[in-house]
Amino acid sequence: MQNTKSMKTLAKLLLFCLVCALAANPGGAQSRQRPQNFVVIFCDDLGYGDLGSFGNPTIRTPHLDRMAAEGQRWTSFYAADSVCTPSRSALLTGRLPIRTGMFSDTNRVLFPNSTGGLPASEITIAELLKTRSYATAAIGKWHLGWQPEYLPMKQGFDSYFGIPYSNDMDAVVKFSSRAEYHAFMKNPKREYWNVPLQRNEEILERPADQTTITKRYTDEAIKFISANKSKPFFLYLAHSMPHMPLFRSKDFENKSARGLYGDVIEELDANVGRLLDTLRQLKLDRNTLVVFTSDNGPWALFDEQGGSAGLLRGAKGGTYEGGMREPTIFWQPGTIKPGVVTDLGATLDLLPTFCNLAGVPAPADRVLDGYDLTAVLHGKGRSPRQMMPYWRGSKLYALRHGSFKAHFITKSEYGGEPEVTHATPELYNLDIDPSEKWNVAAKHPEVIAEIRRLAEAHRKAIPPVENQLDKRIAAPTGK
Ligand code: MG
Repeated sequence: MQNTKSMKTLAKLLLFCLVCALAANPGGAQSRQRPQNFVVIFCDDLGYGDLGSFGNPTIRTPHLDRMAAEGQRWTSFYAADSVCTPSRSALLTGRLPIRTGMFSDTNRVLFPNSTGGLPASEITIAELLKTRSYATAAIGKWHLGWQPEYLPMKQGFDSYFGIPYSNDMDAVVKFSSRAEYHAFMKNPKREYWNVPLQRNEEILERPADQTTITKRYTDEAIKFISANKSKPFFLYLAHSMPHMPLFRSKDFENKSARGLYGDVIEELDANVGRLLDTLRQLKLDRNTLVVFTSDNGPWALFDEQGGSAGLLRGAKGGTYEGGMREPTIFWQPGTIKPGVVTDLGATLDLLPTFCNLAGVPAPADRVLDGYDLTAVLHGKGRSPRQMMPYWRGSKLYALRHGSFKAHFITKSEYGGEPEVTHATPELYNLDIDPSEKWNVAAKHPEVIAEIRRLAEAHRKAIPPVENQLDKRIAAPTGK
């Protein structure tokens, strides 16, 4: 009798403590405990069809395939732009480049002679997580401004190790024709590009030895995780591969049936394996959400040395699916419900999702273009994202709403010919026709009318902002 009474008192006390904790932490269960860790592995120019788990017949990616089997493989997940700089800005801020100034109709990305960058007024995932005392590191390609005021440490990261812009910039070889340019890109030597490898603001190596760069980024990532195993951390690991020119280390030379490009992807895969093994060994796997994706589609200009968009039409630089739909995996054993997700998602959604999971309020003083994907990740609901806009510079080229995508404007990825504005947009049902082969505009005027209405409302809600990508020291040098 006495025991039963004690048990009841104890139960009441526990209930009282729980209520008090919930009242003090409206963010709920997540925010009562040590917040979970976040790792974003962001490849450069990886195609939708370049992983075994996304249908590649020859490239071997056992670690990513295991990650996909243990986690969620997303088949309609988008980068926010079809080229590097705008895409990266959107992942870190949860905002479209058209809102942050990280777009241009002239210079599609930042170059070594650019003087702009991600404005300090933008709030990144790293800055938000800092409010809960996360350790934060940016490793790899930055490409959001190389001058000191734009480096990662000014955007909420404690440290930075990597190259400040693309691995094909600072070219020191001169080429006089397109053929010569392609020959240099396809037979790369370290000394052709004077791209620096730096730690914070200090240049460690110039030109960077890119043959070991995938491994060295991962070494740094493992060091960071190990050093911060007892506190919450956010790691942004933006690999510079498989962006052309392609490099891989000795251990991966001539190993893949897919040739040099396959070697590069297999090395990336092995290094993802090293990182996940570290999390397992440190018993951090169940408390760390790892996201694997890419900044844009494959660089098709370079034939077999560019990747493959698989069954998708188009490539890097364009607004057909191959330019922006990315092979994406979410992994956190015990929390992420394993499976294949066909709902819409985008890199824009990472900021609101991470904020929710970390118990950090998302910025309320500005428009965010992302949605919280927690319910889908935890197997408790559908994605709130119903719409995906496809911007190219200052223009909205296309819009997806549910299954349908309308192209208002089209243009080849890198060709010099003018854009085509369609009086009647091209319309595709992406559920039936992910390859965008069969224009069904004539059959669905009501769908076009609805997407036009949504597009108009979307455009109108975007105020003008200062362009960052056209600020230059001198005349453009690149392509
Ligand atoms: Mg890229």
